[in-house]
Amino acid sequence: MAEAPKGAAVAALADARVLVTGGAGFIGSNFVRLALVRWPSARVHVLDALTYAGNKKNLEDVSDPSRLTFQHGDIRDPRAVAEAMEGATHVVNFAAESMVDRSIDDPGSFVLTDMYGAFVLLEEARRRSIRRFVQISTDEVYGEIFGDPASEESPLVPRNPYAASKAGGDRLAFAYHATYGLPVVITRCSNNYGPYQYPEKLIPLFVTNALEDQPLPVYGSGRNVRDWVHVDDHCRAVAMLLEAEGVDGEVFNIGAGNELDVLTITDAILRQLGKPASLVRHVEDRPGHDRRYALSCAKLTMRTGWAPQIDFAEGIARTIDWYQARRDWWEPIKSGEFRTYYERMYGQRKVLSVGAGGPDPA
Ligand code: NAD
Repeated sequence: MAEAPKGAAVAALADARVLVTGGAGFIGSNFVRLALVRWPSARVHVLDALTYAGNKKNLEDVSDPSRLTFQHGDIRDPRAVAEAMEGATHVVNFAAESMVDRSIDDPGSFVLTDMYGAFVLLEEARRRSIRRFVQISTDEVYGEIFGDPASEESPLVPRNPYAASKAGGDRLAFAYHATYGLPVVITRCSNNYGPYQYPEKLIPLFVTNALEDQPLPVYGSGRNVRDWVHVDDHCRAVAMLLEAEGVDGEVFNIGAGNELDVLTITDAILRQLGKPASLVRHVEDRPGHDRRYALSCAKLTMRTGWAPQIDFAEGIARTIDWYQARRDWWEPIKSGEFRTYYERMYGQRKVLSVGAGGPDPA
């Protein structure tokens, strides 16, 4: 739930028209929900191409034609972008191809949306009086982390086409600030979880597979670590950065410090649903699979006062409950394009072992 923002912060967006690209996706739709509550007189315009990951149903419960408008269009299309930016005061670019596995299969679509699409948006924004442009990047731009968590000053070493394309959009946004003075803020968030996440991603995939008594395909040993943040905490951080003063041209990490490996997440899901560990299949790993991501978020806390509010144990339990209750949302998705994708991704993948114990070390 959105915390009540301070008066001055609300005032900063009182007359705002916020363009949210990718607003029909997982994080974008949760952000739209938060924005409509947090800024009661602001208007929100969504531009979304409705790719396989976009779903207008994600916005059904917030339908309010006087404050929320939807445009079916592509961020790579300058005409659609010009129309979407008409009257906009703030822009948040969530639109992206977002799945690492798909980027290994088809890197071109990632370069085109995550880099070129960002360029089209930035190019339009610099001709207008945009008060703030938030480019949503990712912690994956830092690559694999072996020691201390990455700070905003850490080198960017993206290791897969998704991460590299996001790094391109991230740095291009910074260049538009440095070169043209566009008031850009760049965020690098860790792995999100919560409602409305397309069920190809780890948590919704495993919850829904477990509910269907289907195998849970764990890559390799399942010891890969990510920092998990609830989508509401992520969206609140983005909102606070839209409100904040004196942050133009800066990068902010967003994470909750919940460094957990895949087997720990899998175990939490199986326990809550009362399903057996025999559903776990350790399968051949994906190439270039980063072992650990970890972030320091001290800068964000220091500059905005943001801190994560949702404890992982509580957040994951609520998330599992949500997918359990919303079969009407995910069952139609899992029967469509998803089936072909799933077969391509996992159909031929060698099974290394069955059960949560993991394969013997090589
Ligand atoms: P998602 O795949 O659920 O949603 C992406 C949305 O963008 C969809 O609605 C899709 O239709 C839309 N889209 C895709 N290509 C488009 C285009 N060319 N033009 C217009 N719309 C287009 O992704 P998500 O998980 O909600 O991620 C949102 C953003 O946050 C992305 O930029 C992603 O890189 C970033 N991010 C995600 C995570 C995470 O854990 N999911 C973590 C850090 C950063």
